[in-house]
Amino acid sequence: MKVLLVEDEKQIAGFVRKGLEEQGFGVDWTADGDKAYQLATSQQYDAIVLDIMLPGRDGLSILKNLRQQRNPVPVILVTARTELDERVEGLNLGADDYLTKPFYVEELIARLHALIRRGSGERLSILQAGDLTVNLMTRDVKRGDTPVRLTTREFNLLEYLMRSPGRVLTRTQILEHVWGYDFDPSTNLVDVHVQRLRKKISADDKEQWIETVRGVGYRFRKP
Ligand code: CA
Repeated sequence: MKVLLVEDEKQIAGFVRKGLEEQGFGVDWTADGDKAYQLATSQQYDAIVLDIMLPGRDGLSILKNLRQQRNPVPVILVTARTELDERVEGLNLGADDYLTKPFYVEELIARLHALIRRGSGERLSILQAGDLTVNLMTRDVKRGDTPVRLTTREFNLLEYLMRSPGRVLTRTQILEHVWGYDFDPSTNLVDVHVQRLRKKISADDKEQWIETVRGVGYRFRKP
């Protein structure tokens, strides 16, 4: 699950980002309102955590513009204690929830899970291909009854591939989605992780779920 974190207080942002990443969220962070709007309209996020007072465009105007474009991405506003009017305005503009600073990262995570769960009806909490099952809530992966242990990145990579069976995903798309947009595109991280993931989910049979599309990227085979 991928979150856009928009927060210009570096300490808070660092703390929140770390907490989210530890729970397996992919996080893009920006401190700038204009950059935030650009990312929110060009990338796919499962949720946006949005501060109100920002350099560049402010949080409420970002929210307003997204909703005017009928962008349904779940938004949690982060407000200061004194920003009651902004909070009300934000909810009226289509924010899904809000948190008042200071807050516990655990609470943000709980609310994000709740939002993402109810946010999109078509989002299944279990992905399946053959005897491979991936539970997105518990993060358990199994082949038949045998548990498969994956690292956070491997899990996120598998989830991303499985969400679009049959579709070719380029290395850049995978990097952006699983590692974040600011990664060096010449890295071979994707290939290394795909190799490891294949070994873990394919046991010793010849069945290969993740296909290489030469010169382009990877594709999860249609079940
Ligand atoms: Ca701020």
